[in-house]
Amino acid sequence: MNWQIPLSDIDFGPEESAAVQAVLTSRWLTMGAVTQEFEQAFAAFTGAKYTLAVSNATAALHMACLALGLGPGDEVIVPSLTFVATANAVRYVGATPVFADVNNYHDFNISPQAVESCLTHRTRAIIVVHYAGYPVDMPAILEIARKHNLKIIEDNAHGVGATLDGRQLGTWGEIGCFSFFSNKNMTTGEGGMLTTDNETLFEKLRALRSHGMTSLTWDRHKGHAWSYDVTELGYNYRIDEIRAALGLEQLKKLERNNARRRQLTELYRAAIHEFAPEVIIPFSNHPGTPSCHILPALLPPNWERLAVMEGLKTQGIQTSIHYPPIHTFSAYQNLSRKADLPVTEEIASREITLPLYPAMKDEDVVSVVMAIQSIMVRTL
Ligand SMILES: *Cc1c(COP(=O)(O)O)cnc(C)c1O
Repeated sequence: MNWQIPLSDIDFGPEESAAVQAVLTSRWLTMGAVTQEFEQAFAAFTGAKYTLAVSNATAALHMACLALGLGPGDEVIVPSLTFVATANAVRYVGATPVFADVNNYHDFNISPQAVESCLTHRTRAIIVVHYAGYPVDMPAILEIARKHNLKIIEDNAHGVGATLDGRQLGTWGEIGCFSFFSNKNMTTGEGGMLTTDNETLFEKLRALRSHGMTSLTWDRHKGHAWSYDVTELGYNYRIDEIRAALGLEQLKKLERNNARRRQLTELYRAAIHEFAPEVIIPFSNHPGTPSCHILPALLPPNWERLAVMEGLKTQGIQTSIHYPPIHTFSAYQNLSRKADLPVTEEIASREITLPLYPAMKDEDVVSVVMAIQSIMVRTL
């Protein structure tokens, strides 16, 4: 399909090509100076004390659950209106995901009240997802965590560069998990990052990334640099130098691209307000500075969503749905306590995601909204 206006688009230029070429020329392909430089740049950017580049955000979430000691018998509260990886990570360690509802039609983030209603004596942690890069109410979530002695993992796959009260998303909880998948605000193809301020967690995460092998520093310290110990069951969740080089270049463009995404989002809000006011664009006047990862729109209940999506497709406009809720998937039928998620289910049945990417033109936004209006007129 040759889309006139695709759902998303990467921003790669000669800088990315040159950075990759430099790695190839260096002949050192994994876990070297470029990865360290990427981790340091990401720490400087986010303000996190420790960073670890990893193979993807799913691996980051898995490691976060392991590092916090979550396991069988433990319950972890997660939203259902997210990508399946958020809940899968909880299951990888044998813990049980418990789904909490989201706030309302104007705020698709996990609801602190809903979180409280999910608490049991088994609850150990909460994984928040900053939907589309709009901040979750972190002060309220941290207060619940403090009161009930819970750990907070941030699935910040959407929110790289977004802030709340001037503080970067991903640095509010114990561990932040970032994704650099192809359609995210900055990309390395596949890739991810872990952030934490806790040195013990950092050391644990670093060991998990590479088979639980003792570090070179440790080897030097012990005086046997030619061997190593394996102190726990770890994984190969490493990134390579090629991807780290892409990440460094993408990080340089992030703030400019996020600003453009915010601008386009405001244009969408204005155009929808003028031409299709029945459609809700959530998170208007939301606290903080969002990363505007995607452009979610909530169609009126009497509109046929698939007809709108098909109609837009015939005009070359690509759309998507964020998300089919996790608790409705076959693989999740026998797992969780019976989930009561009326807001999630209503949003999931009416949401469509419209095109948004930094190189999108102002006129494209108007085209998309006019197309929605024309389809609406035809179907009514
Ligand atoms: C993309 C995404 C992930 C998974 O990221 P990968 O890097 O592809 O593993 C997890 N959670 C959310 C909310 C995402 O959007």
